[in-house]
Amino acid sequence: MGLLWGDIMKRIPVLDKGWVQLEECMGGDEAVIRGARICYQSHAQSPEDDVRLIRRLMKSEPKHNTVFEHAVFRWGVKCPIFVARQWMRHRIGSFNEKSLRYCAASREYYVPVDELHTDEYIRHMEAGFDLYEKLIAAGWKKERARAVLGLGVYTEFIWTVNAWSLMNWLTKRIHPSAQWEHRQYALGVLQLYEEAMPITAQAFKEFVLKQVV
Ligand SMILES: Cc1cc2nc3c(=O)[nH]c(=O)nc-3n(C[C@H](O)[C@H](O)[C@H](O)COP(=O)(O)OP(=O)(O)OC[C@H]3O[C@@H](n4cnc5c(N)ncnc54)[C@H](O)[C@@H]3O)c2cc1C
Repeated sequence: MGLLWGDIMKRIPVLDKGWVQLEECMGGDEAVIRGARICYQSHAQSPEDDVRLIRRLMKSEPKHNTVFEHAVFRWGVKCPIFVARQWMRHRIGSFNEKSLRYCAASREYYVPVDELHTDEYIRHMEAGFDLYEKLIAAGWKKERARAVLGLGVYTEFIWTVNAWSLMNWLTKRIHPSAQWEHRQYALGVLQLYEEAMPITAQAFKEFVLKQVV
């Protein structure tokens, strides 16, 4: 079935310098089946029974959502700070982010394509980094000097989240009303999710995502 603990990390490039990577995956489709079958004390007569069960659970109303919470992922993400700000509004999950109190910011920022005034934008970002480095050289603490940097600067974080909460994030961030840059990350995660939990992800695409995209 899907990926299991210990499988090699998979990374997908996103935007000009970012990426999303699947670092660990616990449970997969099997964990959903276990969660559901303990409720009914039932056993599959064939592999197709398990597929049918997951598809039924994905469609059921009201949702039997907790069965999807037994599959858990840890993702690694490199994205612009403005995308991370939006991402971390999703409370059901755990985050740890690179600290700009303790680490110096890398001179890496997102440059949108097909926009006017890109040169001016780059000059502004470069000037921000020039000032940042000048302030630190003059004795400023990194935690204060960072205030001059823009929201397009890249950050890194890890995110541990269960499959139910992941699908909530995917539904909201693949939605056409979500910011384009955030959508690119959601599409990358969806691709890896399909590899890790093929049955659940397929049912999710058919019965949930199709309604919103
Ligand atoms: C297109 C878009 C635009 C947005 N614009 C803004 C904006 O301008 N400003 C802004 O502040 N936010 C904005 N948001 C963030 C949005 O309000 C949500 O905070 C974010 O999408 C997380 O969704 P969530 O609460 O479902 O996810 P999670 O926080 O992961 O929560 C998952 C689910 O758990 C339950 N839950 C979690 N915490 C609580 C709680 N305290 N009480 C009751 N139930 C809870 C809810 O059922 C919730 O759906 C935007 C989101 C999107 C997708």
